[in-house]
Amino acid sequence: MQHVDIGIVGGGIVGLTLAAALKESSLSVAIIDKHPLSTALGEKPTARVSAINQANIAALQSLDTWQHLQKDRANAYVAMHVWDKDSFGDIHFSCEEMGSDALGVIVENQALINALAQSVESQANVQVFESGIERVLSGPNQNMVMFDNNDALSCRLLIGADGANSFVRQQAGFPITFKDYEHTAIVANIKTALPHENVARQAFTPTGPLALLPMAEPNVCSIVWSQTPDAAAKLAAMSDSDFCNALTAASGSILGTTALETQRSAFPLTMRYAREWAKDGIALVGDAAHTIHPLAGQGANLGMQDALALAELLVQLSNEGSDIGLHKNLRPYERSRKTEAMKMIAAMDGFKLLFDGDDPLKKLIRGVGLAATDKVGAIKQAFVSHAMGL
Ligand SMILES: Cc1cc2nc3c(=O)[nH]c(=O)nc-3n(C[C@H](O)[C@H](O)[C@H](O)COP(=O)(O)OP(=O)(O)OC[C@H]3O[C@@H](n4cnc5c(N)ncnc54)[C@H](O)[C@@H]3O)c2cc1C
Repeated sequence: MQHVDIGIVGGGIVGLTLAAALKESSLSVAIIDKHPLSTALGEKPTARVSAINQANIAALQSLDTWQHLQKDRANAYVAMHVWDKDSFGDIHFSCEEMGSDALGVIVENQALINALAQSVESQANVQVFESGIERVLSGPNQNMVMFDNNDALSCRLLIGADGANSFVRQQAGFPITFKDYEHTAIVANIKTALPHENVARQAFTPTGPLALLPMAEPNVCSIVWSQTPDAAAKLAAMSDSDFCNALTAASGSILGTTALETQRSAFPLTMRYAREWAKDGIALVGDAAHTIHPLAGQGANLGMQDALALAELLVQLSNEGSDIGLHKNLRPYERSRKTEAMKMIAAMDGFKLLFDGDDPLKKLIRGVGLAATDKVGAIKQAFVSHAMGL
């Protein structure tokens, strides 16, 4: 049976970021995923995209991953426009105000995974295993990971980067706190009559936020339309043309009429927060540790920062000859990243509470709050810096 220092279950954005960030270390790494890491992209853009912030773009550049990104599948956005459909609240952010040439990029998830996979596959310290995992047997000094193809691997530290329903988290017995956001996100790509001009837009409606994320083509946006489950079910049942009419209305026709470029997919949204992220021999990163509402586009960004923080600690431990598998050595990672995730979960809860529904007092607070943020430079800068991950 092969032995490696670190076994990462999950070759999504977060697991691959972690492996890429371990490239300079002498640690041996295995990535285990039930799917092939890279998938050739079709001609048309797919609708699963992420808004990746400047902090993570800088990290991807320093990991030499950025150069592998298929450039026509990522688009820099230079401004954001957020408004409340039900009040006078309206706010604009632009990259010039931040002295930057972009606020972030909208990238197809698979394009980012492909770029990361290309980096990782060229690393001498990484092996890739295409298999699901069936069992984890944890001993005092190592974990044995049983694959569903009857193979097995042993590792000192097993990392769960295996997404929201993490098998590693369940095997480790880490308890989670979860809450149904009572929203379903409808995701699709649309063509708009007017060009998006590289502006990311979000309208808050009484039944949930609608994001219009600018893709590389000037008239194509990816939408994330979070709605109460009833409203989402109605939208899902509509014909394409009725859906587009509803979408045009919800967006206040800001980009004119709309037409579907892809099918619609629906994602029920749940907040999950693992109450423990590490113990002897096991740690969690990304969606395995936390899932949040996509209204601020921060889930993958948070997860990538988990991966970078954990990699930094593991390299330091390894360089000083300390045990990478001891819980007490992993505590600094667990403490700092749990705090960041908790802050983001609380912020998303606050936004959702404030923007849900049509209570007149909330409408007033939303209008005044957005207008004030738009006018007061210092608050606005702090807000955008946070969104850019700076
Ligand atoms: C509608 C929507 C919009 C979003 N928009 C944004 C955005 O704009 N910006 C942003 O930052 N975030 C966004 N997010 C969040 C983001 O998509 C996730 O946080 C991110 O993709 C999580 O990455 P991950 O690598 O942790 O997990 P995943 O992407 O779930 O990857 C897990 C990997 O583990 C593998 N795996 C799972 N189980 C096993 C097993 N038993 N054995 C082997 N392999 C296994 C899977 O095959 C997969 O490759 C959005 C989410 C949603 C739902």
